[in-house]
Amino acid sequence: MKLSRKTCLALAALLALALCARLEDARRKRRHTRAFFAMDTPVALTAYGPAAPRALERAERLVRRLEREMSVTVADSGVSRLNAGEEIPADGTVGRALSAALEMREKTGGAFDPALYPALRLWGFTTGKYAVPAQAEIDAALRLSGAARVRKTESGFRLNSGAAVDLGGIGKGWASDAAADCLRENGVESAVVSLGGNVRTLGPRPGGAKWRVGVRDPEGGLLGVIAIGEGAVVTSGNYERFFEKDGERYWHILDPRTGKPARSGVVSATVIGKRGAACDALSTALFVMGPEKSADWLRKNPGYGAVILDENGALYFTENLGADFVPDERRRAAARVLGP
Ligand code: ADP
Ligand code: MG
Repeated sequence: MKLSRKTCLALAALLALALCARLEDARRKRRHTRAFFAMDTPVALTAYGPAAPRALERAERLVRRLEREMSVTVADSGVSRLNAGEEIPADGTVGRALSAALEMREKTGGAFDPALYPALRLWGFTTGKYAVPAQAEIDAALRLSGAARVRKTESGFRLNSGAAVDLGGIGKGWASDAAADCLRENGVESAVVSLGGNVRTLGPRPGGAKWRVGVRDPEGGLLGVIAIGEGAVVTSGNYERFFEKDGERYWHILDPRTGKPARSGVVSATVIGKRGAACDALSTALFVMGPEKSADWLRKNPGYGAVILDENGALYFTENLGADFVPDERRRAAARVLGP
């Protein structure tokens, strides 16, 4: 069969169109990454599509700026200025993160408290100079700790003398939200931001499927995998930042009531929700509360899922996760619903 010149041209045009569509699809799905170290943890930014390279560069700059402002060890950061007695504006970077932290303090009945720094400092977790403080030192620090010592002024915040704030329990989640928002504003529709144990996703995966986020097993491998659309998966654990003295282990999450490492039986607490900041604060709070109180709290505050590993190896998960949480084979026998 001989094709007419017209038919040949039409076929060629169709072929070219199909090729263009394929190329465009590949361009939209192309993965771009950026990895660096900030906020005391490895940061990995992944974004898809043609807007990604420029957006990622801006998101990295933003995370670094937030790190400088929120750090408790950088001398002229916003947090350091607040801790030195200066007033900070409510609508600045630190003011807004502190407002969110204070709100989470209210919501968690004080299990999360951003004004614990006088007590935290004694243990050396932010400086690396680890020590087990004497009880008298802890008592004195506790008298200066607690969100009641943060004063709201007309336009900002100021601390009572001796008080000190530390945003270590919410800063990475806050930064993950900011980075995701920045990527979206710069034209990205699909991305994953990961800062240590804080994962924040933007949109679904290219093509519409859910992301799969692994939850680390402190004994190696994964506790399980969480499927999520847009949202946050944040883990707080006692196996990453700790020191040992006289056979006893001390970690960086404190019980605000005692000023000592929280011993609630929890080894790791993972929170799944919409925003990274809230999930970050909440993962710290659930670690302090322990499985039973966490179950109560989660029942009264719908909108979050949780996976908690306790020191006996029991793996609790909230029922609302449904098929979106798949425990690892090795942990399946010890997995149970969190709650009554
Ligand atoms: P990580 O920083 O390892 O991801 P978390 O999000 O749980 O873990 O934050 C722990 C940090 O939060 C500590 O290093 C300290 O700065 C701060 N912190 C410790 N205990 C509390 C608490 N009860 N409430 C609020 N912040 C806390
Ligand atoms: Mg936290």
